[in-house]
Amino acid sequence: MAERIFNFSAGPAVLPEAVLKRAQDAIWDLDGSGIGVLEHSHRGKAVDAVWERTEERCRRLAGIPDRYRILFLQGGASLQFCMLPANFLPEDGSADYWNTGSWSKKAIAEARRYGEVHVAATSEDENFCYVPAEASYGAGPAYVHFTSNNTIFGTRFAEEPTPPAGAWLACDTSSDLFSRPIDLDRYGLVYAGALKNLGPACVTLVILRADLLDATARDLPTMLRYDTHAKQDSRYNTPPVFGVYVMGEVFAWLLERGGLEAVEKENEEKARIVYDAIDGSDFFRGTARTDSRSIMNITFRAPSEELEAEFVKQAAAAGLSGLKGHRSVGGMRASLYNAFPREGCVALVQFMKDFERKHG
Ligand SMILES: *Cc1c(COP(=O)(O)O)cnc(C)c1O
Repeated sequence: MAERIFNFSAGPAVLPEAVLKRAQDAIWDLDGSGIGVLEHSHRGKAVDAVWERTEERCRRLAGIPDRYRILFLQGGASLQFCMLPANFLPEDGSADYWNTGSWSKKAIAEARRYGEVHVAATSEDENFCYVPAEASYGAGPAYVHFTSNNTIFGTRFAEEPTPPAGAWLACDTSSDLFSRPIDLDRYGLVYAGALKNLGPACVTLVILRADLLDATARDLPTMLRYDTHAKQDSRYNTPPVFGVYVMGEVFAWLLERGGLEAVEKENEEKARIVYDAIDGSDFFRGTARTDSRSIMNITFRAPSEELEAEFVKQAAAAGLSGLKGHRSVGGMRASLYNAFPREGCVALVQFMKDFERKHG
């Protein structure tokens, strides 16, 4: 078999090798049933077991109490940009949104279709290189939405914001869910497209407070209502069984590693290796403000666009793939999700040093 290389891609992204091996087996034969995971009826006992263990591991991993529902949906985080306000932003109400990057902007644009959106804080003035420290909320928002980790700009909220009294927190956690502990008590709803940190692109994880399901704001198509999926245990229609299976194995892998606190520690160490190299260099520079730096997506630049193109090209040839930055920031981006190995960070830093020596 061909050797695997270091994959720094922002998403779809690296998955744990142990999980990929288990998934290979399950494609052939799920849990000794004689039928593969792609071939099973979503209403049969084998898939019941996948559902039960995936939800149980998710609850154990993040300490999720029963008053929250866990849903496995489709349509990615992008459909959540629309489902969240469609279900919970009343026509005569408002919601507050933090504008900290391209994904926040998309979420805001969708919410504006349904009601009044007040932008509580924005960092657009400096091309989203930081997360604002303060917000100014509108009057009586139903909820406050933020993007915990800004995949494109390499920034993150060190802590979740505190919403005004009566409002609950909604969060797009697509690129950092389960990279660190999360205090769900503070949230009404969190969502994540699985493709960054949790599994394949076909499934979206939604965790929401069960009581919100009684408060759908308007008449909606059946598939767009959270209560449809909650009542049918995420099997109203044919669900992405394979994605849920893989996510369940990723949860097991995270539990085996010691849970979210242990995983956060590893992630901080991995990010530190790369940030130290950036900070210790006169050649490379980070693009995110140090107080807002993400530990999942590290964005940095070289002295010229020509050198950046050369860096990405030579890195790929050396087995370091996916380092080209997003066009709205330029330069390079190293995505270091949970499954990204520490050795890959060390290899990147060595490559950076060699490159600087040759071109600096
Ligand atoms: C990738 C990403 C999205 C888009 O996710 P899809 O599942 O492709 O819709 C949304 N928000 C953030 C923060 C992301 O990183």
